[in-house]
Amino acid sequence: MKIDLHLHTNVSSPCSLIDPRHLIEQAKYAGLDGICVTEHDEIRGAEVAAELGRERSFPVYRGVEIYTEFGDMLVYGLYRNAPGWKTPFEDLLAWSREAGAVIVPAHSCRVSGELERVHGPERADWLLRNVDAVETHNGGCTPEGNAAAAELALRYDLPGIGGSDAHHIFQVGRCYTVFDNDINSDEDLVAAIMAGRCHGSYATR
Ligand SMILES: [Zn+2]
Ligand SMILES: [Zn+2]
Repeated sequence: MKIDLHLHTNVSSPCSLIDPRHLIEQAKYAGLDGICVTEHDEIRGAEVAAELGRERSFPVYRGVEIYTEFGDMLVYGLYRNAPGWKTPFEDLLAWSREAGAVIVPAHSCRVSGELERVHGPERADWLLRNVDAVETHNGGCTPEGNAAAAELALRYDLPGIGGSDAHHIFQVGRCYTVFDNDINSDEDLVAAIMAGRCHGSYATR
């Protein structure tokens, strides 16, 4: 089952040109089985898209991309806004543990070794011990950056996920997550990531 787990729409992300109605049409055209909308620091865009998905009988799940001192974190299972710019990672961790949500560093390595270089090896190590997966396939990263993220996932024995990070309609589905089992709800999606029953992939066509 192929689901693009990282998408921005013009509802909550001013940087995106994607209308959620067009997003759903494009996701079907791209052969995806579902999508998850992850706006910057705000849940509303995901709620709007999920409602449109219900009307159109296409699975749309809800996530959010929260900016922290460690960069952007994709969060699944936490249906709330970030209260301000640059959420302290420890706050995000506390909310996520309470809600049973998963935290996944987005585009964590534009280049190899970036996390260690920017935050120091100890802080980078602490971060990676407190996240649930790594975005190993991000549509906006170079193959080298994604390979570096995949290496981190391997080193920390974390599952990988994939998402297009689309801000333009033609980018939808350029990366996605392959789930081993059927996903029928936000809860299924969170549980599958937590259990590692998924991996990231590039679009093959
Ligand atoms: Zn981002
Ligand atoms: Zn993003």
